Amino acid sequence: MKKRYLISPGPTPVPEDVLLEMARPVIHHRTPQFSEIFRECSEGLKRLFKTEQTVMTLASSGTGAMEASVTNLFSPGETVLVVNGGKFGERWGKIAEAYGLAVEWLNVEWGQAVTVERVAEALDKNSAISAVLTQGSETSTTVAHPIEAIAKLTKDTDRLLIVDGITCVGVVDTPMDEWGIDVLLTGSQKALMLPPGLAFIALSEKAWKKREISKLPRFYFDLKKEASNVVKDTSAYTPAASLISGFRKALEIMFDEGLDNVYQRHDTLARAVRAGCSSMGLKALAPDSPANSATGIFVPDGVDGGKLVKDLRDNYGVTFAGGQDHLKGKIIRIAHLGYFDSFDMIVAMSAIEMGLAKAGVADIAGKGVAAAEAILNERY
Ligand SMILES: *Cc1c(COP(=O)(O)O)cnc(C)c1O
Repeated sequence: MKKRYLISPGPTPVPEDVLLEMARPVIHHRTPQFSEIFRECSEGLKRLFKTEQTVMTLASSGTGAMEASVTNLFSPGETVLVVNGGKFGERWGKIAEAYGLAVEWLNVEWGQAVTVERVAEALDKNSAISAVLTQGSETSTTVAHPIEAIAKLTKDTDRLLIVDGITCVGVVDTPMDEWGIDVLLTGSQKALMLPPGLAFIALSEKAWKKREISKLPRFYFDLKKEASNVVKDTSAYTPAASLISGFRKALEIMFDEGLDNVYQRHDTLARAVRAGCSSMGLKALAPDSPANSATGIFVPDGVDGGKLVKDLRDNYGVTFAGGQDHLKGKIIRIAHLGYFDSFDMIVAMSAIEMGLAKAGVADIAGKGVAAAEAILNERY
């Protein structure tokens, strides 16, 4: 027997009550029973996004909502500014290019956040840029980008700010309307304590107006069609009904805790993991602007990070994420978003200590755990 722990930044663990909800018999989606569930989810999403706008639920992974942002809001040949500080920033650019947009790449060193000055400079230099596409939290590098400040640059202009909030919504407060975010989107399998398969997206009034003049083709992800169904408590096509039933329960759990407490919990867990890793002598990938969703750390010289992640997963039963591209084998990413509490972080610290000790790192036992405990005790 091996007990398994999932501590990766997506997918993340799902609470037992949510799993049980999804195990119930499938109900037909064109019924008052399902409409009631769907309505509660749509209302919960507005509270979560802090918006008056309709939040749409799509049957896709998060990337589907990214693609929907592009196909619904732009016309071929338009220029967009893409903040490219990791795999997901790169994805924004690839989607935009796939649909014939001209991408201005704002490349950011992996592990760093984009600065608002660089965004301002790029916007000043090229008046053709009609939107900024960025992540709230770049999960591949565990960096948080300064969304509130970037929003000030676009808010009172014709430009749109499109935020992939997949590891940001439900982790840190991201008030869409107050900050002036034009598109905010997320996915089910990160902070929202659900399996993969759902994406959520909302558009500002400014974005809805842009939708009217955008010419890219679209069908399944026609957000106008989707929004007109959401207000009738239904969806354009067959919804992922079981996931949506689970989502109602997940939202209930989040609202019972209280959103501010959810954000506080993420902050405490993140600080505990950072302190633990630092006490183990491990260098942070994103020391200056760390995200509260996950923490990336470099493995010590001489340790193969890929082997470590595999050993921890296959032999110890603890799944973390490794690095991608040039960070492959060099980093390990510890998640703290979604259904995580203090003792999950103790498992994380202990597993890394044990794995590194086995890999030959001396004098590490107990160091991460002790430093993390000191911070986690703030919760009690
Ligand atoms: C996970 C993730 C995605 C991709 O989402 P999928 O659900 O795999 O399509 C995009 N952006 C960020 C920031 C993510 O963390």
